[in-house]
Amino acid sequence: MVKKYLTFQKSNSITPYIWTVLCILPFYFIFQTSSMIRIIVGILLTFLFFILYRIAFFSKGWAVYLWTLILIGISITATNLYSYVYFAFFLAYFLGNIKDRIAFFTLYFIHLVSTSISINYNIVVQEKLFLQQLPFVIIIWISVILLPFNIHNRKERGQLEEKLEDANKRISELVKLEERQRIARDLHDILGQKLSLIGLKADLAGKLITKDPEQAQAELKDVQQTSRTALSEVRKLVSSMRGIRLKDEMIRIKQIMEAAQINLVTEGNFNLKNISLLTENILSMCLKEAINNVVKHSGARNCYISIEQSWKEAILTIRDDGCFKKETNVTPGHGLIGMKERLEFINGIFELDTNKGTTIIIRVPSDVKGGKGGSRAND
Ligand code: ADP
Ligand code: CA
Repeated sequence: MVKKYLTFQKSNSITPYIWTVLCILPFYFIFQTSSMIRIIVGILLTFLFFILYRIAFFSKGWAVYLWTLILIGISITATNLYSYVYFAFFLAYFLGNIKDRIAFFTLYFIHLVSTSISINYNIVVQEKLFLQQLPFVIIIWISVILLPFNIHNRKERGQLEEKLEDANKRISELVKLEERQRIARDLHDILGQKLSLIGLKADLAGKLITKDPEQAQAELKDVQQTSRTALSEVRKLVSSMRGIRLKDEMIRIKQIMEAAQINLVTEGNFNLKNISLLTENILSMCLKEAINNVVKHSGARNCYISIEQSWKEAILTIRDDGCFKKETNVTPGHGLIGMKERLEFINGIFELDTNKGTTIIIRVPSDVKGGKGGSRAND
């Protein structure tokens, strides 16, 4: 909405003045003629033009053709009777706003041909007032050719952008819905069964408490045990929903490197900003896999991890001073390929350099709109 308003503002900053001048200008031309009847006809035609012009903007279907053809007729009459060619500019602007492709091209063609003929006719008969304003006439003629296309294309692009934005919104809604359904399913699977078991066992214990206190105690122990398992499963579910943040992953990596006796050098702020949770999750997974490879395959002494973030993207570099080993396994691993695929999914870029040791460079786009929205909902 705000974007729409801004483009409206931008595209209309000087146009009101041009439109005002163009609205007053016909009267100047009309009063250049000597005959009273011509003056009256001119004024009536001008008012008729502006009224129909306004109506044409709100019309649909065949009415667009009708009003536009009448408007073209008035424009040609004004050009020939009063040497006033500027109605053609109004029409060029209007044609650009016609959404229907066939109507646009048909009326554009009619307007261009009729305006070109009447301009040429006036030049040929050497109409004095017309020749005086020839440079302006040429400008109008050029805008009759270009302006409708310009406006039409801009409108089409705007509509496409709007559609894309809508589709993106719908996708994120669907993703949220799917996530909600998954959580509901997991909660039901984990808690539903266990809670009903607890209920049954508690009932049983209640009944047995006087008849068979020992059995009742055993049932209560079961209740206790089941509730503990349920609690730990809920905790697991919640922590898996939170996703992995890069700074948390770094803590784990430091411990691994220490255990593997590889010297770790880090650079940059791992507390990322303007990155969606999904992107950060994927970054963390890639980092985890790259570090697993360093420990498993590289034989490195030093490992270097850096993160850089600009408004546009985040760049994560993982470098080791070991030796890249060509795969010896019969079944190739999925680590590097998996990283590449996951990054492609979020429009990220994966680069692998195996010249001196192994260097992996990962670039992911920043969330330009600022991750205030749903993307951080799970924080
Ligand atoms: P996996 O680890 O299951 O073998 P990957 O796709 O993660 O599969 O890695 C593919 C291969 O690339 C590894 O088997 C190894 O030979 C080589 N490799 C990957 N990373 C490194 C590294 N940091 N240092 C040396 N070799 C590496
Ligand atoms: Ca691996």
